[in-house]
Amino acid sequence: MPSIIEKDKEYVANTYARFPIEISYGKGSELYSPDGKKYIDMGSGIGVTAFGIADDEWKNAIISQLDKVQHVSNLYYTEPCADLAKELCQRTGMKKVFFTNSGAESNECAIKVARKYAADTKGEDYNVIITLKNSFHGRTITTLAATGQDVFHAKFQPLTSGFVHAVANDLDSVKELVKTNKVCGILIECVQGEGGVIALDKDFVFGIEKICKDNDIIFMIDEVQTGNGRTGELYAYMHYGVKPDVVTTAKGLGGGLPIGACMMNEKTEKVLGFGDHGSTYGGNPVCATGALNVIKRLDKSFLDDVKKKSEYVFSELTGAKGIESVSGMGLMVGIKTCKPAKDVVNKCIEKGVICLTAKDKVRLLPALNISRENLEFAIKTIKQVCAE
Ligand SMILES: *Cc1c(COP(=O)(O)O)cnc(C)c1O
Repeated sequence: MPSIIEKDKEYVANTYARFPIEISYGKGSELYSPDGKKYIDMGSGIGVTAFGIADDEWKNAIISQLDKVQHVSNLYYTEPCADLAKELCQRTGMKKVFFTNSGAESNECAIKVARKYAADTKGEDYNVIITLKNSFHGRTITTLAATGQDVFHAKFQPLTSGFVHAVANDLDSVKELVKTNKVCGILIECVQGEGGVIALDKDFVFGIEKICKDNDIIFMIDEVQTGNGRTGELYAYMHYGVKPDVVTTAKGLGGGLPIGACMMNEKTEKVLGFGDHGSTYGGNPVCATGALNVIKRLDKSFLDDVKKKSEYVFSELTGAKGIESVSGMGLMVGIKTCKPAKDVVNKCIEKGVICLTAKDKVRLLPALNISRENLEFAIKTIKQVCAE
């Protein structure tokens, strides 16, 4: 009998450099391999399992929805989809939601909104979208074009045209691109995740909001990774005091079920009309039920607890031996280690702690409800490995 790893290597497309561990079950922030080895999960499936593995409340909500109906398509109405849209709008002040199945698709929707808004108001030649160098917006041909990292572009040309990349925290570079292109939208991550967990400056984000307002450009924020409580606010833009026209999210939204959202405000809510966009699975009742459970539980006291855990993590890691710097926001943490990040991650796995990387950093995205005990064990282990 081939092992699962051998079987996977033989039959699954070879696009992932997987670690040689198999996870067969878990609970909360504890993952187990078939032989019973325990890992503390500091990655939550890349910021997806917001309430950890097999969370009872989340699971029970989904099971009861599965007993009712798992899918009907968007030709008909279902309660979880409507309830989730209402909850998201009430919590953000946005006016309408389009549901997708992933982060890339949420950004695809945002891009369509920006282009259609300009086509309706200024003309179809206003189709250029500014994103930032070092950004990450997804893997489809269009969101790859939006992603400002050349390494992802090679050998997939031609990508969708109409994307230009400004320099993060350099407002002049944005102004220059607005002057030299017919721009319909600007899309940013408040904290660049895959780019190395780097938070944008407040003044820069503020400046982008003003440029968008002054030039009637759609201001879009990609909250796929930063959203849904990850940074200690429901969405990261809330730390910045700006009001985006479009907000995209996914990852943690469904708590482990595939669902994304593109939220539109009073300026953009009517841009997409009948037939302009669609998704067979979008707003699926099971995924929407999981997401509704996640969002409802992200109340003020829960988010305050995320902030407290964040303070603990930052204060423990900052200045520790073998650690050059710590970046990020909330429970989205980048650690610049003296040793190569890959080595740190491999050593941590040996000691039973699963971490992620982002560029040359160790990245932590634990479940938001990780217990103090598990968090302390993981941080202690990471510090030990860095100091060795
Ligand atoms: C992960 C990510 C995406 C892509 O999400 P998928 O669900 O993998 O399509 C887009 N934007 C950001 C900021 C992300 O972190």
